[in-house]
Amino acid sequence: MTMRPNSIEARDVASVLHPYTNAAAHRAEGPMVIAKGDGIYVFDTDGNRYIEGLGGLFCASLGFSEERLVEAATRQLRTLPFYHTFGGKANEPGVELAERLLALAPVPMSKVFFANSGSEANDTAMKLVWYYHNAIGKPKKKKIISRQRAYHGVTIASASLTGLPNNHRDFDLPIAGVLHTDCPGFYRYGLPGETEEAFATRCAESLEQLIVCEGPDTVGAFFAEPLMASGGCIVPPPTYYEKIQAVLRRYDILLIADEVICGFGRLGTMFGSDSFGLEPDMMSMAKQLSAGYQPISALMINEKVYNAVVKESAEIGTFGHGFTYSGHPVACAVALETLKIYEERDIVGHVRSVMPRFQSRLSALGDHPLVGEARGRGLIGTLELVRDKASKEPFDAALGIAAHAGKRAQVHGVITRALGDTVNLCPPLAITEAEIDDLFDCITRALDDTHEWIG
Ligand code: PLP
Repeated sequence: MTMRPNSIEARDVASVLHPYTNAAAHRAEGPMVIAKGDGIYVFDTDGNRYIEGLGGLFCASLGFSEERLVEAATRQLRTLPFYHTFGGKANEPGVELAERLLALAPVPMSKVFFANSGSEANDTAMKLVWYYHNAIGKPKKKKIISRQRAYHGVTIASASLTGLPNNHRDFDLPIAGVLHTDCPGFYRYGLPGETEEAFATRCAESLEQLIVCEGPDTVGAFFAEPLMASGGCIVPPPTYYEKIQAVLRRYDILLIADEVICGFGRLGTMFGSDSFGLEPDMMSMAKQLSAGYQPISALMINEKVYNAVVKESAEIGTFGHGFTYSGHPVACAVALETLKIYEERDIVGHVRSVMPRFQSRLSALGDHPLVGEARGRGLIGTLELVRDKASKEPFDAALGIAAHAGKRAQVHGVITRALGDTVNLCPPLAITEAEIDDLFDCITRALDDTHEWIG
């Protein structure tokens, strides 16, 4: 692409280091500049319209033009544009938001800690795992188990939880004390002839073996995203969490549910934990918490973890953790309004009513010659592309098959995201059935183009 001197594209290349972008390719090709949003659509600077097939980054649940959120932010900016929550200071939207979140929790939770991003919420959870075990006199119980292909963020600690090679390579991660157990993706990791339930048993046995091998008195917590979204929409097999949680209980290991993507209706339930019967000690959430309109995340903790914090405060002093913007009043006001909208519009009921259409269009693409498996739940889904459907042989990674399909989808008017060999869909929750049809019509054309491209 030739970039006009002083164009926004040229200025971007000259000045911005982009997250999750191939820096070498970006220097040659330049950015796609998004100018505005309307409903489930965004528009580039040439006026081309795209369905945001990934809800931005799994967050724009209410689309890109929700006036009530603009008004909530404006009202709060005029009243109290900033204040912190250190040293016992509080603000009204923060308190009301915490109350509402606690009322929504799938299991009894005690307190809410606010941060700015999913990574920070997960970092906070990791620090609390360590703090808690020191407080209860088990200072060796500090190792944390996550899973291969998990995604929990990019800060040093949360990137260590993440189980994707690209987040570790050349960053000298993961840090010591973070271990990874099996990914519960049956399509890739199930053995020939194995049932899904037998696979779930094998995953739980493998977790137990790891715990026993490391020493149960050294393992403090297990992190799980109920449905592993960024790892390629891995839907765990039936009985998986039942068996995993039995192991965790046996060895007195805390469970942290990462609800950053699953939270607030994505799977047709308020939380992913509701869908899969998880009973976490802590839950991290972000993204759809504010419909993506403000950077905010939250970590809910149960009474047992909270009591440990109180005990440490009494014995060693102030809880030494918090971000300048923890409980930012504008972010909290927007999140609060988002939750009110979810309730008034029965967003979970809406997802339940349109998700059969989404899932039936998705699974129909399982018959496409390029698609090895079409899988999903609620309003999230993935198409895993393979060279050979019978043997599941993947394409040569250098071909960038899913990235190519993503580019073709863009030509046909849908922005999506390729992760490895998967094309991922996670549209705004407010999407209608007619819009779901448009989305899948475009994706079908993109797959057909890609099939033609490989010959
Ligand atoms: N956890 C999950 C499940 C995520 O999908 C993400 C981001 O996509 C994160 C944590 C990290 O959130 P953030 O990018 O806000 O730090």
